[in-house]
Amino acid sequence: MTAILHRQPKNALPLAVAGDGPYVIDSEGRRYLDASGGAAVSCLGHSCRPVIEAIKAQLDRLPYAHTSFFTNEPSEQLAEHLIARAPAGLEKVYFVSGGSEANETALKLARQYFYEKGEMQRRYFIARHQSYHGNTLGALSVGGNPGRRAIFEPILLDTRHVSPCYAYRGKRPDESEEAYGRRVADELEAKILELGAETVIGFVAETVVGATLGAVPAVPGYFRRVREICDRHGILLILDEVMSGMGRTGRLFACEDEGIAPDLLTCAKGLGAGYQPIGACLLSGRIYDTIVGGSGFFHHGFTYIGHATACAGGLEVQRTIEREDLLANVARQGAALRAALEERFGNHNHVGDIRGRGLFLGLELVEDRGSKRPFDPARRLNARIKRRAMAEGLMCYPGGGTVDGLAGDHVLLAPPFIIGEPQVAEIVDKLGRAVDAALAEPA
Ligand code: PMP
Repeated sequence: MTAILHRQPKNALPLAVAGDGPYVIDSEGRRYLDASGGAAVSCLGHSCRPVIEAIKAQLDRLPYAHTSFFTNEPSEQLAEHLIARAPAGLEKVYFVSGGSEANETALKLARQYFYEKGEMQRRYFIARHQSYHGNTLGALSVGGNPGRRAIFEPILLDTRHVSPCYAYRGKRPDESEEAYGRRVADELEAKILELGAETVIGFVAETVVGATLGAVPAVPGYFRRVREICDRHGILLILDEVMSGMGRTGRLFACEDEGIAPDLLTCAKGLGAGYQPIGACLLSGRIYDTIVGGSGFFHHGFTYIGHATACAGGLEVQRTIEREDLLANVARQGAALRAALEERFGNHNHVGDIRGRGLFLGLELVEDRGSKRPFDPARRLNARIKRRAMAEGLMCYPGGGTVDGLAGDHVLLAPPFIIGEPQVAEIVDKLGRAVDAALAEPA
């Protein structure tokens, strides 16, 4: 019996009781290799002593002090750490407790920025289909996942959506990557012109699409063109790096690989690595100056912003990543994992695409590789793979298969940055068995 409203109330879950590096251990003593970092969260595994000690030390000193009375050392230091490494122009940080809150914060900062400039008529966000930005109402409104939106559609903000940059399905066979990137970026410009640029606040996109499509990076040049379009029409670019940021792609900020800087950038998940709930919204100096020079303050706030213990955990996560040179390991093990996946699934009849960046990789499953026809969503293939993987002692993050035939089921892999060759082999071995077992089940 349970008194919790679980995610899937009808399925009993194992009871997690301990962590050991990249493994989670349940009450029966079973070990699960965390090949997805939960949902791309646990980038340092589940027993990182320096982070645990830093949190304990902060609890001994000062667990929390409300930010309307005080600032605190860990939040000041973590902000400095992030800004010193952030893409050009991002100069301030607003700390929250997770990804949805970070995105709500970005949307409201963007709106208040234009309010301060006297541009009250700006009200639209443009975002992308097949995206995920969180489950609070503003974040859900910019999200483009039909299944998650459906029930709440009547109470969402009026947001407009354009195509994602999803080459596996969107690029025509006779089209170059460059031409494809230009074509989808130009959908944004057409939408801005249709709405009237003076009514648009900003464009919201995941730098690498996570939960809804499964680790899909844009083609080279797409984001540079998006940046140009936003600048040409005076609208803000908001990048959601809640899943893809904080080192997951091998860069601290995923947009470093795109050669652009957004006006607002959100991160969470890997920022606290699961040791504490924390998210952040980074903002440009221009937005900060306009708001502080206007109303004087941001009309927003949560009880736990700048939480001292959460920030102390986040700071030690960042220091550990640098001390142990873990971004280099992300690049190294990411390349090894990708090669092993290619080896195992490259000729698999039902794996249509293997993609991603760093330790953020995805497999897309299709019924037919030639036509890229997805499996019938009613089959719930991704849920079957997840169940089979758990039976093998492997956590992977499945999704897709519910997007009205616009994409196949996928498996998202986002293992901790601390994995080595043995875990790479274990992931591919167990995942291979789980995928084949799920496919062999009667439809
Ligand atoms: N944005 C992205 C890209 C995400 O992947 C997620 C979480 N899956 C969120 C926002 C929401 O974050 P949270 O669940 O911490 O609110």
